[in-house]
Amino acid sequence: MGVRPITKPGSFLVSPNLVDYEAARESFTWGDAGEQLDGLGDGMINLAHEAVDRHAHGSLKDHVALRWMSKSGDVRDLTYGDLSEETSRFASALRSLGVGRGDSVFALSSRVPELYIAALGCIKNGSVFAPLFSAFGPEPIETRMVMGHGKVLVTTERLYKRKIIPILDRLPDLEHVIIVSQPGRPPIPGTIDFDHFMASGDPDTPAEAMDREDAALLHFTSGTTGTPKGAIHVHGAVLHHWASAYFALDLHPGDIFWCTADPGWVTGTSYGIIAPFVHGVTNVVDEGDFDADRWYGIIQDLAVTVWYTAPTAIRMLMKAGDDIPDEYDLSSLRFIASVGEPLNPEGVYWGERVLGLAIHDNWWQTETGGIMIANYQASEIRPGSMGRPLPGVEASILALNDHGDLILTDDGSAVEILEPLVEGELALRPGWPAMFRGYLGMDERYKDCFRGGWYCTGDRAERDADGYFWFIGRGDDVIKSAGHLIGPFEVESALVAHPAVAEAGVIGVPNEVAGEIVKAFVSLHHGYEWSSDLERELKAWTRKRLGASVAPREIEYEPDLPHTRSGKIMRRLLKATELGLPTGDLSSLEQEETDHEGP
Ligand code: ATP
Ligand code: MG
Repeated sequence: MGVRPITKPGSFLVSPNLVDYEAARESFTWGDAGEQLDGLGDGMINLAHEAVDRHAHGSLKDHVALRWMSKSGDVRDLTYGDLSEETSRFASALRSLGVGRGDSVFALSSRVPELYIAALGCIKNGSVFAPLFSAFGPEPIETRMVMGHGKVLVTTERLYKRKIIPILDRLPDLEHVIIVSQPGRPPIPGTIDFDHFMASGDPDTPAEAMDREDAALLHFTSGTTGTPKGAIHVHGAVLHHWASAYFALDLHPGDIFWCTADPGWVTGTSYGIIAPFVHGVTNVVDEGDFDADRWYGIIQDLAVTVWYTAPTAIRMLMKAGDDIPDEYDLSSLRFIASVGEPLNPEGVYWGERVLGLAIHDNWWQTETGGIMIANYQASEIRPGSMGRPLPGVEASILALNDHGDLILTDDGSAVEILEPLVEGELALRPGWPAMFRGYLGMDERYKDCFRGGWYCTGDRAERDADGYFWFIGRGDDVIKSAGHLIGPFEVESALVAHPAVAEAGVIGVPNEVAGEIVKAFVSLHHGYEWSSDLERELKAWTRKRLGASVAPREIEYEPDLPHTRSGKIMRRLLKATELGLPTGDLSSLEQEETDHEGP
């Protein structure tokens, strides 16, 4: 598919952090980057100290750290000084309960300030923070808390009553439940009131000195391909949070940063909590859910400068209509980035056309803990490409055999594909600071990820002659049709480029002659109706762009494409439904929340 690259001006309002990509790759070392952090002496570190206390003890004490907007639109600010005191209270109160280093503290909460205090307070105490998405039902909560030996749970009154009480006797490790409730509510027997808990804490408690390899976070994957895995991350990851936000999000002092992801997913923690604080900028948190007017209003009213969002959100904004942004002043925005799924070129161009800024796609996974491949502020964007590896990160494409297994040489090393635009396994050289250090309870599975000297991501991609990486699809989603390997992303992008199509999910359906044929499911923009004429038109449209062997043979209208709760299209569910197969683990499937939560 032909893409029009987006070249960048030579001068920017704010000088980009990464100007000369090649030079930065040459000169960067993780050791030098470590100078950006404080440390706690003797090689010890604490992620929460780097994110909060070092700013609170320095010139940023009165600078706004967290700018929180409630569902009803009220704004509450916490400065770095406030956040330091609150997180210290939380840490010392945990300590008084006998909760210490390595103990896991789960959170199940909407995006309220207490969640952010709990996250950083827990890490400050040396305990392991494990966030859960608040829309999970009791079963996925139970599975994850049992797996993670949750000793403490921080939640809201309503979530506790609806989702925890029914499973309480099945959580053997749970010793303390801390409840955030509205002022004046009577205490709930057997639980601890958040405000009381905080009042018992000491606001001057320093962060626990931790080894870089000590666990700080436990994150569950999105469950797009199967049962979610629990990825363990360490305190030393903070260096990667710093460097990736510096290079890929171009954070500068004074920025007002908004990451729209929920902390229940890794993006919402690495970049919705940690990275902006490590940079000492103002971190915007919105308690509310997606709404196009609300979102443009936040950018305008809170003067957001750097915005990190997801393709699914961009597609929803596109669907809401191009006239809406005209009603808002979005001139504060300087940089937009996106992650989580492939960003269709159409989305990049839409940003350029409608928001006045092209959108910078970047790629990473729960396992990588931070951004690995990105489009940068001062570099040309090749729409549809994930960009180039971060300085300090080595990425490659590894050769696979016909069964999709890595080809290994006699000495056990993998074969890198150096030729441009040849598909293979996207792999990363182990050793970046935010690399996961284990899958909870799945040691073998963890070891299996490391083969031939590389961490194998499970994603298929190719690299062009200039080192830009192009996503093909997840290993599980790649379609084999009449001798061609087809990536769903390419087909979906061609469909989304049609003015009628809002979103597309593409799968392979078994076929006697071709092995598999390409089938697409599409939802439509407002004002379009599904008809056999439109179906024919879409087939012709994709044939013209992709050729007959890649274009979908079948196209079905599906107004409700299944998504994970983190916003990814669940192709495996489309496929299971199509073929009448078992649907597998659906704990991450996004479903309508009928009963809205709130304290
Ligand atoms: P599970 O591992 O449980 O199946 P998941 O892989 O969706 O779920 P995450 O770790 O949240 O869980 O998502 C990482 C995956 O998302 C990547 O491996 C990749 O497939 C996809 N992804 C993330 N960002 C991008 C991007 N910019 N372009 C293409 N794909 C992306
Ligand atoms: Mg995955």
